[in-house]
Amino acid sequence: MKPAPFAYAAPRSVEEAAALLAEHGGDARLLAGGQSLVPMLNFRLLEPALLVDINRIAGLDGIAEIAGGLRLGALVRHRMLETSPLIASRFPIIAAAMAEVAHLAIRNRGTIGGSLAHADPAAELPLLALLLEARITAVSTQGRRVIAASDFFTAALTTALAPDEILTEIELPDPPAGSGWGFAELARRAGDFALAAVGVIIAEAGGICRTARIAMAGVGPTPLRAPAAEALLQGGTLDTGAIAAASRAAAAAAQPADDLHASAAYRRHLVEVLTRGALSAAVARARKVVP
Ligand SMILES: Cc1cc2nc3c(=O)[nH]c(=O)nc-3n(C[C@H](O)[C@H](O)[C@H](O)COP(=O)(O)OP(=O)(O)OC[C@H]3O[C@@H](n4cnc5c(N)ncnc54)[C@H](O)[C@@H]3O)c2cc1C
Repeated sequence: MKPAPFAYAAPRSVEEAAALLAEHGGDARLLAGGQSLVPMLNFRLLEPALLVDINRIAGLDGIAEIAGGLRLGALVRHRMLETSPLIASRFPIIAAAMAEVAHLAIRNRGTIGGSLAHADPAAELPLLALLLEARITAVSTQGRRVIAASDFFTAALTTALAPDEILTEIELPDPPAGSGWGFAELARRAGDFALAAVGVIIAEAGGICRTARIAMAGVGPTPLRAPAAEALLQGGTLDTGAIAAASRAAAAAAQPADDLHASAAYRRHLVEVLTRGALSAAVARARKVVP
């Protein structure tokens, strides 16, 4: 199908783009990588009067070191996250997860801002934003605000962004020193959205788990943390029994639904298996058994 007719603007600054959104109310849409928006236009699921193409706005495509973390511009592409040496050294879990997103042509265009704003329940970047406790900046003609990832994803394909707000950057605080990470997902074919995905961060000191974070995608309307599973690990030793119990608790926290691709019961089972694998990998990395 072809999209319904729309007007097109390519502003050169965030201020100009924000003014266009304010002027058109909910009838304008931002265009970033176009990998989710253009299919929705072609299927006429969306019929905006105006597309505001943000690709010509300078300064939104950088990865910068800041005190205690990294700042990523909204136009950083999936492929840049996959290949950046800075991401590989500071957030290797992101580089690893990006290899699982779609196909190379899509990763070359798709952006972090577009993925977070689109908020597909099975997408990797929303899961990572929740896991890494990202802070997301939104700008409108009214000003600028910072939204915690835990408050950002409100329902399937729905976020805390107002229709006149532009997601401009994402700040990622460094995980605790000496922590290990794990990421595991299952998709029916390479490049498909995951049936379920799990990311974890683990830190130990003196043989005791000090930090445990578990986030999952594809098993609820939004990415989810598993607080009861995290609590089971924190303050204890990270042995096989603890990992198995936390994996069962993560599966209990999932909110999967039956759909065309898998039953809810199968997705819940996947969460348990993927969490066990991701936790075991994270512990091995924290103990420097694997890189
Ligand atoms: C075949 C296929 C397979 C895919 N598989 C996966 C997968 O496995 N995992 C995965 O995570 N994704 C997958 N995707 C989606 C892909 O990663 C998209 O690129 C991504 O979800 C959207 O990013 P984008 O930059 O293309 O956004 P766009 O398509 O340009 O925009 C998406 C939405 O976000 C809004 N938006 C964009 N940028 C901003 C901004 N800065 N501020 C506010 N709103 C904004 C747009 O208005 C639109 O509503 C797949 C896509 C396809 C076509």
